[in-house]
Amino acid sequence: MKKLSVLTSVLLLTAATFAQSTRQAGASISSPSDLASSTSSASAGARTGISSLVVPHARQTPPAAMSPSIQLVSTGTSSPAGTSPSTRNVSTSASGTSTWSAAFPSRTSSSSAWSAPGVGLSSSAPGPGPASSDPAMNTFITNLMAKMTLDEKLGQLNLPGAGDITTGQASNSDIAGKIKAGKVGGLFNIKSVAKIRDVQKVAVEQSRLKIPLIFGMDVIHGYETVFPIPLGLSCSWDMGAVEKSARIAATEASADGICWTFSPMVDIARDPRWGRIAEGNGEDPYLGSMIAKAMVKGYQRDLSGNSDIMACVKHYALYGAAEAGRDYNTTDMSHVRMFNEYLPPYKAAVDAGVGSVMASFNEVDGVPATANKFLQTDVLRNRWGFKGFVVTDYTGINEMIEHGLGDLQTVSALALKAGVDMDMVGEGFLTTLKKSLTEGKITQAQIDNACRKILEAKYKLGLFKDPYKYCDEKRAATEIFTDANRQEARKIAADCFVLLKNQGSILPLKKGGTIALVGPLADNKENMPGTWSVAADFTKSISVLQGLKDVVGSQAKIVYARGSNLDADSIFEERAGMFGKSLNRDHRAAADIIQEAVQTASQADVIVAALGESAEMTGESSSRSWIGIPQVQEDLLKALLKTGKPVVLVLFTGRPLTIKWENDNVPAILNVWFGGSEAGHAIADVLFGDVNPSGKLSTTWPQNVGQIPLYYNHKNTGRPLADGAWFQKFRSNYLDVSNDPVYPFGYGLSYAHFTYGDPIMSSKSLRGDQKLTVTVKVTNDGSVDGKEVVQLYIRDLVGSITRPVKELKGFQKIFLKAGESKNVTFTISTEDLKFYNGDLKYDWESGDFDIMVGGNSRDTKSVRINWVK
Ligand code: BGC
Repeated sequence: MKKLSVLTSVLLLTAATFAQSTRQAGASISSPSDLASSTSSASAGARTGISSLVVPHARQTPPAAMSPSIQLVSTGTSSPAGTSPSTRNVSTSASGTSTWSAAFPSRTSSSSAWSAPGVGLSSSAPGPGPASSDPAMNTFITNLMAKMTLDEKLGQLNLPGAGDITTGQASNSDIAGKIKAGKVGGLFNIKSVAKIRDVQKVAVEQSRLKIPLIFGMDVIHGYETVFPIPLGLSCSWDMGAVEKSARIAATEASADGICWTFSPMVDIARDPRWGRIAEGNGEDPYLGSMIAKAMVKGYQRDLSGNSDIMACVKHYALYGAAEAGRDYNTTDMSHVRMFNEYLPPYKAAVDAGVGSVMASFNEVDGVPATANKFLQTDVLRNRWGFKGFVVTDYTGINEMIEHGLGDLQTVSALALKAGVDMDMVGEGFLTTLKKSLTEGKITQAQIDNACRKILEAKYKLGLFKDPYKYCDEKRAATEIFTDANRQEARKIAADCFVLLKNQGSILPLKKGGTIALVGPLADNKENMPGTWSVAADFTKSISVLQGLKDVVGSQAKIVYARGSNLDADSIFEERAGMFGKSLNRDHRAAADIIQEAVQTASQADVIVAALGESAEMTGESSSRSWIGIPQVQEDLLKALLKTGKPVVLVLFTGRPLTIKWENDNVPAILNVWFGGSEAGHAIADVLFGDVNPSGKLSTTWPQNVGQIPLYYNHKNTGRPLADGAWFQKFRSNYLDVSNDPVYPFGYGLSYAHFTYGDPIMSSKSLRGDQKLTVTVKVTNDGSVDGKEVVQLYIRDLVGSITRPVKELKGFQKIFLKAGESKNVTFTISTEDLKFYNGDLKYDWESGDFDIMVGGNSRDTKSVRINWVK
């Protein structure tokens, strides 16, 4: 038995490694020995993958050759497998922006009865009965389930990868065999109406009960029209734009047959070494919660229309807190931190009605999230009232064997009992639950409950009424990658860029003279969309070179030179160019490539250097231990600065980078993240001042890796460093670096200039449920119109547990014409003062509070008030 499980572990590990390396479409690897050559073949396949079945970036189920690993551990019982200048008033509640938050009434009040961790929580397993208050749905599903065999019920819990079905061949494929046998609940990452219709037909015409399949995909930041990576999008601080990006993504994906997206990703991350920081909304639970709600609303609306798709909030929970920023690593934190700082965005998605939740790979309190009943049942369902279904992340169940929780049968049973409903890829549920039922290790009610949740999702999506609701070829031909969507992507991208430095107002550039564009990312399309641009056709994205040329036309001359490779190390560069995003390495000597760029730049009036990270230097399994700009690019930058010409650094990145040297030496830095399909145009729009940058950072940018984790909403400690000080003996600081970041949370410049008046309080002494209004006059005293994100922070000075030095509690993105002033008002209620105390009770406490307003988390004006119960 022991021998078998060791062998099983080895095979499973190999299968998992295999799955990683075949993530790209078209990677035709048929045996583990092909793994050595997998990177290059994966890249090649990706370019052609757009037209093949499985989309680029999508991973595949381990092929037949690998499936015996799953068979081995199975029971053997079943087969596996603006207005004129004046003063205007803008007002909003601190709980949200005025334009859209009303759609999401806060349900935080329901949180007040929380009790101690692990104490007083219901420990009951998910109940078997209908959870929904929709009687018609309940009756329909109850009747359907009465006809289902155990095997058919287990089939609904199974979510295999797409395999290699091609249009017209679905009915002959291996996966089709399983669909006909009722062993599949849904599929993911299949692209095109034709293919999806083909597969759905098998389900609704050839399976016994004709239950439709659900079709998912990683539609993370756009579909074919790609928006900025989520970390970039979060820097817009514009919930309307965030929601719109999700709406367009939903419209395009649904026009191509998709009804379910594995988004939004709302993991709070304070460690920029972690590559997946690119996929989330940064370090702040309040901003993260607002974005979670906007995304869910944008994707789902009320799920009634054929452009409404089901969202899946992920990765629940705490995936962003991986130790040392290493992907998939252990997470461990106090429940107080968990509830106050990491869980709010997941809860916000649940409050917004998200249809599904994805369990994370990591462990929490020593139990992988996939088998963590505290997370999946006690908190998610019993505490938050979640009514949808929980899906694993990829082979999350199988991976628990490696975590050390037992064999496949054991871990599958643990996952079901914890409250997981659907098993992605690994087929642990399909192959072992029957045996576990027979052996009394799980109950029929637990299987029924999970099955009901999947069927409910299909019902809510309207698939029982019309399994082809999302299969409309006409929509596919007219609603995807439209000019209108691309225009929207261009506008949104420009609003996400963060102007980090603009000494001497080098920017905006004049549309005239000669501009030298230099850098490995300057003339590249593939990297513009960024990580997780699964459905994109990279050949259609706009490079910086093309963007500049399109925007200046004949008004200015653009000269280009590559300048450097991404990295001196070709192996590193290959890893950072996966999924068809190669930078086509230049094999000349680095000095020669730089020399050529210096010569090109010598003809120019200004140099634009497009440097930084490639798209795949962040994202899944792309953690870095050192997060600077690669040395070879910094060498190029130094050579360009030596020419004495003005240099603008256009910085590509999926994470905060340690760019203290650049900030000290380069006059202008525009951080452009990965801007999506229209990145090149949007970059040109901002560089030439057609759009005034208005992005603000959603993360703190550290000076060096040793400061990590560095975040604005930290605790004071008992020995805080005095404001403005660097080192004081016996204080909480470092000998060799100040405690300051290079750029604080909420920071970002504009071509305009904004000044803040003193905040005016409606009262400085409040009682009970009174409301406080704080008003600040913001003036654009620059010479161009611009947008500013006015930020509200609160510090709770005395508490029963220690409280952060400040917490974001509201923001408004306002437009001010040059010379214009506006009074911006925030309304604060006791809801905004609440936190989870040492007993995890959600409440506020009497005392003094600092109310701070400003344009970033560091530069604020503060007023102290007293608020008692
Ligand atoms: C990722 C998820 C993704 C899933 C399906 C996993 O590796 O962690 O974010 O949704 O794959 O592609």
